[in-house]
Amino acid sequence: MSMEDNGSTARSAVRIRDVLVTPRDWTLWRQRPRLIAYCLLVESVALIGTILLARSPSPSEFALLGVLAVLGVVQAELGRQVERVRRRVNGTPHINMTSVWTFAGVLLLPPVLVTALVAVLYAHLTVRSWYRLHRVPAFRTVVNGSVVVLTCYAAHLVLTALGVSGMADALGRGWAGVGAILLTGLVYFVVNAVVILGALNLSSHSVRELFGGWGDNLVELATLCLGTLTALAMATLPALVLLVVPPLLILHRGVLVKQLEVAATRDEKTGLFNTVGWHTLATTELARAERTRQPTGVLMVDLDHFKRVNDTYGHLAGDAALKAVAEAISGAVRAYDSVGRFGGEEFVVLLPGIGEAAVVAVAERIRQAVAGLVVQVPTGDRQRTVTGLSVSIGVAMYPAAGTVVDRLLHAADTALYEAKHTGRNRVLTWR
Ligand code: GH3
Ligand code: MG
Ligand code: MG
Repeated sequence: MSMEDNGSTARSAVRIRDVLVTPRDWTLWRQRPRLIAYCLLVESVALIGTILLARSPSPSEFALLGVLAVLGVVQAELGRQVERVRRRVNGTPHINMTSVWTFAGVLLLPPVLVTALVAVLYAHLTVRSWYRLHRVPAFRTVVNGSVVVLTCYAAHLVLTALGVSGMADALGRGWAGVGAILLTGLVYFVVNAVVILGALNLSSHSVRELFGGWGDNLVELATLCLGTLTALAMATLPALVLLVVPPLLILHRGVLVKQLEVAATRDEKTGLFNTVGWHTLATTELARAERTRQPTGVLMVDLDHFKRVNDTYGHLAGDAALKAVAEAISGAVRAYDSVGRFGGEEFVVLLPGIGEAAVVAVAERIRQAVAGLVVQVPTGDRQRTVTGLSVSIGVAMYPAAGTVVDRLLHAADTALYEAKHTGRNRVLTWR
């Protein structure tokens, strides 16, 4: 164990004790009431399910549990570095590699032992991989674990309803067995997504944040495939189960690489595109605009007198205001439009396929949305409210103002400069 590990483990031990001793201080109680209700509901259903489906397992089932838990822990240890970087880069809560073991559990174990497996794997990940990530509070880990438990129960019920008791049983049934296992996997995948969908309207997470992209869903499918192969090995030649670990580690690393790619094009503070990401996208879109002979608008948006917000409320409050403005801009454009943050308090928007009048209307909508913002900001020990924010916006149209990204940006910047010098809180178009 390295010195760094010693220090951090000690710190996490203190925090875990704090959490257990003072339930009143749980982060959970500081969430919105509907999110609290959702968490408690998921957790109670998982608990009730555990009680209802409980039966005493056989010694051989305990042995299977032991093997799956050890494999899960070994894989998590080998992938610990990857997982810690991955969770830092992207907080997608429900995507992790544990479904390999939990889905294998569904195909091999009675429900109560699947729950034990989930508890072991999540406790291990929390203590060894996630402890320093303060933006993943304990209640999220508990509710995510409960979601997995519910998912496993749903899959288990389907398998049972199909009259199959598990992998060993399915092996003797030919195509019917194949069908039962595929259906069980499908239910696992869908229920996991749907239970999480329940949290969608309740927390501030966007659909994309929770589901991740298509890439994340393919990863989830791949882990279910490996889970099936794990169960298959365990039911036939158990030693072969070790062969699952290397592909799993590679898959894990692949997920990290993909997430780093995404992170390289994103602005950490607001989640918008960063300069590089926006520029790349804008270049592609302009090439398309040229092919299809469609007009395209570029907006350059700059907060008015933003320095005053920082000076009055502090830098953290300024950051909160920046996030609120970013959301206001994203909310005022179509899903297809690209919003970027060009460092500081300057944003850019690309609006493909619409003419000047429509582009100016969007700019006006953004201006009004920002002017109407009421932002709760943290300042020291109490909340304060920032209002009266405003933006100036410069508009440039492809192809009139330029045919390459940099010329359009320059034109929009010129118009923005004019807007600033003629009173701020207004939209001006480059001519
Ligand atoms: P103007 O209306 O002329 O644009 O006035 P301004 O104060 O907005 O313009 P200026 O460019 O002089 O200052 C921008 C300020 O934005 C300076 C800096 O304190 C603040 N700022 C830039 N980036 C960040 C950030 O990431 N977080 C916070 N809190 N403030 C930032
Ligand atoms: Mg400014
Ligand atoms: Mg500026």
